[in-house]
Amino acid sequence: MKRTSCLRCLRPSSVCYCHTLRQINNVWPVSILQHPRESKHAIGTARIAQLSLGACSLQVGECFSLAEAAIDPLQSVLIYPGDDADSLESLSCSSPQTLIFLDASWRKSHRMLMESPQLQALPKIGLQPNSKSRYRIRKSKSAQSLSTLEAIVLALSCLEQDEEKYSPLLESMDWMIEKQIEWMGEAVFKKNYGFDDDAGIDADACTDKAEQKKHP
Ligand SMILES: [Zn+2]
Repeated sequence: MKRTSCLRCLRPSSVCYCHTLRQINNVWPVSILQHPRESKHAIGTARIAQLSLGACSLQVGECFSLAEAAIDPLQSVLIYPGDDADSLESLSCSSPQTLIFLDASWRKSHRMLMESPQLQALPKIGLQPNSKSRYRIRKSKSAQSLSTLEAIVLALSCLEQDEEKYSPLLESMDWMIEKQIEWMGEAVFKKNYGFDDDAGIDADACTDKAEQKKHP
């Protein structure tokens, strides 16, 4: 029998998280550029932002031109780490600009950037996560690696100096992950993801494994 899915969050009806979503009017608009592989990820976090935030667009692709992505280079910054990235604090006196997030593994987001010279040329802002990631479903080399949703929440709450306003987004994410663990069972979850409270998240643990198999 075919499982029915929610048309809004795209999750199977039994784990639909729509009832957890809250509408939030963000002052700084968000634009998510999503790698096609991420769009197939069952429990990707970007959709939670797209469904919750009043000013949030999501586009899927591997390379982007500013015109196609409707990005104004004078009114946008790319959230991406690097030696040439400024801190979020450098925006504190600026009027709201569009915050662009790449929703992909580290490796794929780097490739997306290499293939999108216009994106590369945008001013970059690096985030300094101050707490461990809550997105437990993937393992990471760094416990401070954030899911796309956590990066969005961190940026918006810092810029508006209002953590509480954006906490419902993380609550939706927590609910989604809890349900996934319930569905998989703790044992399978630990086996597949090597879950450990002190471990963080890997940007692409499952898909990387699959790729390595294909290309040893
Ligand atoms: Zn739903």
